Amino acid sequence: MSDNNSKAVQANDFIRKIIREDLASGKHQQIVTRFPPEPNGHLHIGHAKSIHLNFGIAKEFEGKCFMRFDDTNPIKEDEEYVEGILKDVRWLGYDWSKSLTHASDYFEQLYEFAEVLIQKDKAYVESLSTEEIREYRGTLTSSGKDSPYRERSVEENLSLFRKMRKGEYDDATLVLRAKIDMSSPNINLRDPVLYRIRKVPHQRTANKWCIYPLYDFTHGLSDALEGVTHSLCTLEFEDHRPLYNWILDEVSAPCFPRQIEFSRLNLSYSVLSKRKLIQLVEERHVEGWDDPRMLTLSGLRRRGYPASALHLFCERIGISKSENNIEMNVLEDCAREELDKTAPRAMAVLKPLKVVITNYPENQTEEFEPARHPKIPEMGSRKVPFSREIYIDHDDFKEDPPPKYFRLSPGKEVRLRYAYVIRCDEVIYENGNVTELRCTYDPKTRSGAKAEGRKVKGIIHWVSAQHSLNAEIRLYDRLFEAPQPGRNDPEGNYLNDLNRESIKVINDCKTETELSNANLADVFQFERVGYFCVDAKESRQDMLVFNRTVTLRDTWAKLEQEYSIQD
Ligand code: ATP
Ligand code: MG
Repeated sequence: MSDNNSKAVQANDFIRKIIREDLASGKHQQIVTRFPPEPNGHLHIGHAKSIHLNFGIAKEFEGKCFMRFDDTNPIKEDEEYVEGILKDVRWLGYDWSKSLTHASDYFEQLYEFAEVLIQKDKAYVESLSTEEIREYRGTLTSSGKDSPYRERSVEENLSLFRKMRKGEYDDATLVLRAKIDMSSPNINLRDPVLYRIRKVPHQRTANKWCIYPLYDFTHGLSDALEGVTHSLCTLEFEDHRPLYNWILDEVSAPCFPRQIEFSRLNLSYSVLSKRKLIQLVEERHVEGWDDPRMLTLSGLRRRGYPASALHLFCERIGISKSENNIEMNVLEDCAREELDKTAPRAMAVLKPLKVVITNYPENQTEEFEPARHPKIPEMGSRKVPFSREIYIDHDDFKEDPPPKYFRLSPGKEVRLRYAYVIRCDEVIYENGNVTELRCTYDPKTRSGAKAEGRKVKGIIHWVSAQHSLNAEIRLYDRLFEAPQPGRNDPEGNYLNDLNRESIKVINDCKTETELSNANLADVFQFERVGYFCVDAKESRQDMLVFNRTVTLRDTWAKLEQEYSIQD
């Protein structure tokens, strides 16, 4: 799919259709959306879908998108998450300019709206315990029943609610509930709780409040206070929409946002719920939120994913109402496509095998000067020195080659990328292992010269031994080995599906010396191997650490093809 095609797909999703109609009919002059994360964890790739939708629409229709923290639960929230979330959204290239808000900015107005409901006898203070409230609520198949406190007078309710605010009651003794319908088929309408007592300081309002509004009450009203026109959320909120509308109606909200639901992103071989991500971090199944195996935005960034790959991914998966599961290789392909366009090329040998070119003069060095990028001449060229001792990858040599093996084996020839054709004359062993090859090169085969009548099919990469740089390389694989982690476990324990081989560290790799100039977070294509990013956290002055972003091909597709590239 080309970029143009994928843009065309995105531009036609059902939400954009609604928006176009609303603009055409004059219902709205300006589109206002919001991205409303709860600061109780860092963002993951599912959030990228929502960010791309909300900020993307605001940009496309020249509207506005609020970056709003939904900070109504001080127990689980943390300022560290706020900083991380803002960094991630910025990294995706979005700017909220003056529209950074917090649900807590509206606590006073929300409180007033709650009083409006009480005055209208549309809300009451409940004295039943949490347990009793649950019992009275009924089930999907049986109706709920009215609480004995449902008929408290407006005056009593107002007085109790004001005292709740003043801190005169303990946590969990009273709550404020909407008075809707205990027999509604929609459980969300069976007198939902609007406020609870939590004597916990809030990260922004400190000790000013000891009652906090719940999500359903807060969300729609915050939308209305910001003049949001389209409140875009995931499908699990579909059953909350009647409540969303009920609250706006009953308080005569300043404006009436339209809630529209779309399907959330599910990605194979991963988990995308904050609760599970927190567990992975806390139980140290991964090194942290930004572990390159995590599908958090910080993890993907550290792994070397460019933000453009996530945009491409979001465009490709599009927006719809149907639940779906996206294959991991869709995401990986986006990284490959974007990095292919931008990543400078370099050679790196992951499993070095020393090769001595016996007919090459001992103190001689020559330099090849290949392009940094085959299609972007402006990126210039790099200097690749060649000398008598080089390293090739152990995997590019086989003593007993199978048929059609085009790489190096005893008595056979191979081309060294950018350099010469060499022939393997002798294999040196130590304790039964191959430790060195003795080869001869043919000076007539210098890259660029006419290869006279020679048919050497294999081309391998290499680095000059004396000019090479040591590096540590971390090969990452999918964090889970099952497409739907936890699915085959009776208790749904997704931890049993962790891929024990999701990280492999190799610390004696050799790269081109050019890489000593690399900056943290730079991504290279190691020719024939994959895309690798300089780890921004653990690279040291004396040893660069590279994270494998993605292999060149989808190794999970089990396409075992003989691989040779053209010189
Ligand atoms: P989680 O389910 O991972 O714990 P959440 O929905 O509780 O996430 P919020 O911080 O409330 O996380 O999410 C902010 C916004 O991102 C919401 O509008 C939510 O609908 C959206 N969002 C969260 N997860 C996904 C997902 N997997 N796909 C699309 N949008 C998502
Ligand atoms: Mg949520």
